[in-house]
Amino acid sequence: MNGTLTNFRRYAFDSPAGNPSGRAPRFYVVRADVTGDPDRRRTFYWEVPNPAQPFNRRANLSGHPSEFGVPFRDCLYNAGPLRYALDTLPPVIVWAEGEKDADAARRAYGVPATTHFAGAGKATDEQAAHFAPLATRKARRAGTRVLIVADRDDAGLACAARRYRLLRAVGLNPSQLHVVRAADAVLGGGGGCGLDVRCECDVACLPPSKQWIGADLADHAAAGYGLRDLVRVPRADLRAAAAATAARGKQGWVYGAPEEPPADRR
Ligand SMILES: [Zn+2]
Repeated sequence: MNGTLTNFRRYAFDSPAGNPSGRAPRFYVVRADVTGDPDRRRTFYWEVPNPAQPFNRRANLSGHPSEFGVPFRDCLYNAGPLRYALDTLPPVIVWAEGEKDADAARRAYGVPATTHFAGAGKATDEQAAHFAPLATRKARRAGTRVLIVADRDDAGLACAARRYRLLRAVGLNPSQLHVVRAADAVLGGGGGCGLDVRCECDVACLPPSKQWIGADLADHAAAGYGLRDLVRVPRADLRAAAAATAARGKQGWVYGAPEEPPADRR
């Protein structure tokens, strides 16, 4: 890999089904900024807690949790607060597409928020199964809804469609599931170079007319918008995005490859 890594962020993933006190989370996703690589601005790797060697990356232990025999498919971000929310049935629980977005939801709106790992389209049956307590008469009476937040691009909408389908399979009603995206005026990653600027960024910016592409919940919150300003995504748009993403997948398109929107742009 080219470039230099800076600004490391470490996010813990664990099973919301419970973690006996004192035990380390199953794994961490560590994200970092990349400078000096024309193909990407961000990268990530895994860390598996190992009491004998906490500096996993230095010890070359940065592989996928499965390489270390760690069960991972049922893990979610903010597992403890999510478990509490599923017990106490607040009005809203957010399932975002990324740790940064889940953090933004908690900080800006004070709502419980989680995310899956490994990016768009990677949510699992096992993760959705944790939401089963919402498929009960008690939860429906409490009115708890899951806000499925989509990044504003085809891969993001397809990812949201997948989470919707997984939660329906667990027994949640359509009325309990709101698929939403950032408000129209929100720009992905806060935007990029303007029309009157010659872009000389490491990774080229999208033209201003397309800078809404990839807008996510963190962008929405940073732009000063509220939870109620999120825009409902029509079911037809979800279906279209899922079909488009599936078609691209068959042609060998890989999410995160450098193209529009550029890799790791958000
Ligand atoms: Zn630029």
